[in-house]
Amino acid sequence: MKICKIELGYIDIPLVTPFKTALRTVSSVNDLIVKVTAEDGTVGYGEAPPTAVITGDTKESIEAAIRGYIAPAILGMELEPLDAVMEKMERAIAKNTSAKAAVDIALYDLYAKIKRQPLFRLLGQRHPEEIRTELETDLTISVNETEEMVRDSVLATEQDFRILKVKVGKGGEKDVERIREIRKAVGEEVTIRVDANQGWSREEAVRTIRAMEDAGLNIELVEQPVSYHDFKGMQYVTANVQTPILADESVFSYEDALRIIEEHAADYINIKLMKTGGIHQAMRICDVADQSGIKCMIGCMLESKVSVSAGAHLGAARGCITMADLDGPSLCKIDPYAGGPTYTGPKILLPENSGIGITEMPVIFATV
Ligand code: MG
Repeated sequence: MKICKIELGYIDIPLVTPFKTALRTVSSVNDLIVKVTAEDGTVGYGEAPPTAVITGDTKESIEAAIRGYIAPAILGMELEPLDAVMEKMERAIAKNTSAKAAVDIALYDLYAKIKRQPLFRLLGQRHPEEIRTELETDLTISVNETEEMVRDSVLATEQDFRILKVKVGKGGEKDVERIREIRKAVGEEVTIRVDANQGWSREEAVRTIRAMEDAGLNIELVEQPVSYHDFKGMQYVTANVQTPILADESVFSYEDALRIIEEHAADYINIKLMKTGGIHQAMRICDVADQSGIKCMIGCMLESKVSVSAGAHLGAARGCITMADLDGPSLCKIDPYAGGPTYTGPKILLPENSGIGITEMPVIFATV
């Protein structure tokens, strides 16, 4: 079955409230959608958000990478073996992980549809005993003034979210205060994850995390305390606090994951398809995590349901993924698609129809 057409389009979905981290503020999801068609007419969909501040990928660069490099490399190729298509794409252009992810997701969706299997069953076929059909996601609380963060946290728990991912990294002492007030407001039953988004120096990280520990704030983990390239700093923080450290921006590739594990620079790894360049590379990270007994989170950028659902399928398929941060669709004001996993409060339910499951796509496509 040959890959015979690749098309691109855009989707624009407003957010319920602006999304604020130590790095940026965003008010809508404006993502590229990829449609890949096989010679029998079956289609697969993928998506990529231009998260320049993290991946370096802009709308223009994603489109140029697909048009100029990825599409010419894989158009006309046999879909099987899929690994060969992925390797050709990998070699067609360096980096550009968001562009690769969008095409990789569309190819997996297409492949699973042709195999008449839900994507999670295909991805989990080596270890079917690890497969789940339901995931629980956290909800992100943006970094703001403490009162607003407390209000957002209470609102999230009223919507049945039991796990909060609280964005900090804007002043260590103030960050402790933020978490203290949130913990007071939501009670002890709620799980709190903290994401500093590289916002601290290594000393500030240790001081801040220890202060949270001393105050008994019961933090599940701290994500990316220091700059992405500061592996030594991550290692220093991991060695000097009790709270588990989760590497996010420091891990894009399989090689990054291997280094984090070998140097014990973090306790957990956050896998995001936009960093790995899609499912193919993410599966390699899962393999190395399995071998070393490291737990992973499946995360997303600010994305809508196509690529977030690809992440959900991976999370449902692999046992090393014990945490889900897939709140993209929950942050969107509307769901413009039909089909696919359902997102009800914190519960994500995987459907048994083939591929990712998305059946309708309100996007105008142009052929590459
Ligand atoms: Mg993060």
